[in-house]
Amino acid sequence: MECVRVVLTVFLASIVAALAMEAQESPDRVVSLLTQDPAVKAALAAAKASESQTIETQVRLTEIPAPSFKETARAEEMKRLFQQAGLRNVRGDKAGNVVGDRPGMALHPHVVVAAHLDTVFPEGTNVRVRREGAVLHAPGIGDDSRGLAVLLAIARVLNQANVQTPGSITFVADVGEEGLGDLRGIKAIFDETLKGAVDRFVTIDGDGMGLSHTFVGSRRYRVTFKGPGGHSFADFGTPSPIGALGRAIDKIQELQVPPNSRSTFNVGRIGGGTSVNSIPVDAWMEVDLRSDDRSALAALDGQLQKTLDAALAAEHTRWHQLSVLTMTKELVGDRPVGAAPANSVVVETAFAATRAVGVSPAVSVSSSDANYPTSLRIPSVHIGGGGEGSGIHTPSESFDTTDSWRGTQRALLLTIALAQK
Ligand SMILES: [Zn+2]
Repeated sequence: MECVRVVLTVFLASIVAALAMEAQESPDRVVSLLTQDPAVKAALAAAKASESQTIETQVRLTEIPAPSFKETARAEEMKRLFQQAGLRNVRGDKAGNVVGDRPGMALHPHVVVAAHLDTVFPEGTNVRVRREGAVLHAPGIGDDSRGLAVLLAIARVLNQANVQTPGSITFVADVGEEGLGDLRGIKAIFDETLKGAVDRFVTIDGDGMGLSHTFVGSRRYRVTFKGPGGHSFADFGTPSPIGALGRAIDKIQELQVPPNSRSTFNVGRIGGGTSVNSIPVDAWMEVDLRSDDRSALAALDGQLQKTLDAALAAEHTRWHQLSVLTMTKELVGDRPVGAAPANSVVVETAFAATRAVGVSPAVSVSSSDANYPTSLRIPSVHIGGGGEGSGIHTPSESFDTTDSWRGTQRALLLTIALAQK
């Protein structure tokens, strides 16, 4: 019985693929044919029926702390869950990503589906999930425990329903997506672990039924001012790193963003100093610049550099001194701007899969793991994992599970559709 089922499934999947190839079927048609395939139908039904299990997994993963650079415990759990979901060759790579394969009838098209392991919350944050009816409250519950849970659900139901795909699927739970992680996990996937092997990329990141194919780039700096410091009374007149930092922040807040683009700047963190009665020996800040336009981002970066140099000079001038302070600008984040064309197969398929689960697709611009493969010209799309989140990146983050199964189904259908020839 089992064998007959497999053969039948293979047969049907081949028909879908053949039809698509022959007539240059539109992604809509491919998706609609897939929804008539018995195995795919069974997988979609299983995704809906087991949504409560998906939500339980989401809760469990949220309660394993995973600040960027400290994802190991959550990665270990994902490794175990990848194996349990029936993925093959489950392994960790050098960067700390967890990778598992689901071979198809051929190697290509090779689809990578990913969700990130890390959160923006520091060690020691209370990550216990509190439930209030259909709503779950905890830092990281949506971003990106939701993506990880959906990733696992896809692997699980593909196996349960014995779906065979023409192309192969690799599942990735990656490190370092957030903040200063600087996409280090996904960069390692495309530069080393799966270098040259990937045809299409999907990241399931956060909540909702939106999708993005335009990716905002960013440049992030950690700027540090240093000086000799001293006693606040005895050494009065010594240029101050905090003085220079304050001047820099004042000037940054006055920057004008380039027109005809969506560009932003933010001083996100500051620190420094020793005590109220010491001239500080150091002061630092972290600055984030973003834009959906490559040249606008470069222009904004140019403005920032000038601003920083001027702030340092102004602090020296104020105290009639030269070269007492030093300034270092460390580039701690560099996400390339990228976009997959709206009429590309991945994007059209993502639209079709969204409509197929009864939702009209909303497009937004985002910044995610998809930035990197897009900049390498690998067609990529970012989708939400369903449900409805609020308070993202804050300790009061929540996730409303109402109808969240649609997100699981959409991600599943998109994955299967992209693994067609
Ligand atoms: Zn995220």
